Amino acid sequence: MSENQGKLFVITGPSGVGKGTLVRSLLKAHPDLFISISATTRQPRKGEKNGKDYYFLTVEEFESMIEEENLLEWAQYAGNYYGTPKQPVVEQIAQGKTVILEIELLGARQVKENFADSELIFILPPSEEELEKRLRGRGSDSEEAIKKRLARAKEEIVAQDEFNYKIVNDQLERAIAQLEEIIFIT
Ligand code: 5GP
Repeated sequence: MSENQGKLFVITGPSGVGKGTLVRSLLKAHPDLFISISATTRQPRKGEKNGKDYYFLTVEEFESMIEEENLLEWAQYAGNYYGTPKQPVVEQIAQGKTVILEIELLGARQVKENFADSELIFILPPSEEELEKRLRGRGSDSEEAIKKRLARAKEEIVAQDEFNYKIVNDQLERAIAQLEEIIFIT
């Protein structure tokens, strides 16, 4: 990356670890950051808005984004497609903005391959038991979806050493402070 290009950070971690809350708090404190809005084929959860939380697409719409190479990365997760629209990220980086992607492991690997200077951050739960408790506590997913997410969580946790930084999300304030240090200081 040249000097006036923005940095790219990827935040990954098992479903239920609290990545969404972390990223939302970070954006509130630093409105200058650009948080990428992903596309997905999963159904919106209660309260989620199209164009704000995700771009909710049909499978056909998503697959044509893949074919037209409009995605920076994409993966299947718990039976649905998820991907990062390429153009906004490329534009924001070119304008010198710091860009944050909150995505799962397979996508993070694709980003690292294509953007060698990107920094990968892994968010860990205090324990697997605590993760399961949080996933179930959300109350919005079916038992089948929870099982798929827990299985995927285990696979992701095993890969944590591929990441440049690790943060244990046991206390929100402390986790945010660590994230800020990685993004703004190191
Ligand atoms: P959820 O359905 O809980 O919102 O997200 C499920 C998983 O998909 C999470 O691990 C989340 O980080 C990941 N995810 C969200 N957006 C993207 C994306 O654009 N690309 C990839 N690869 N994963 C994503």
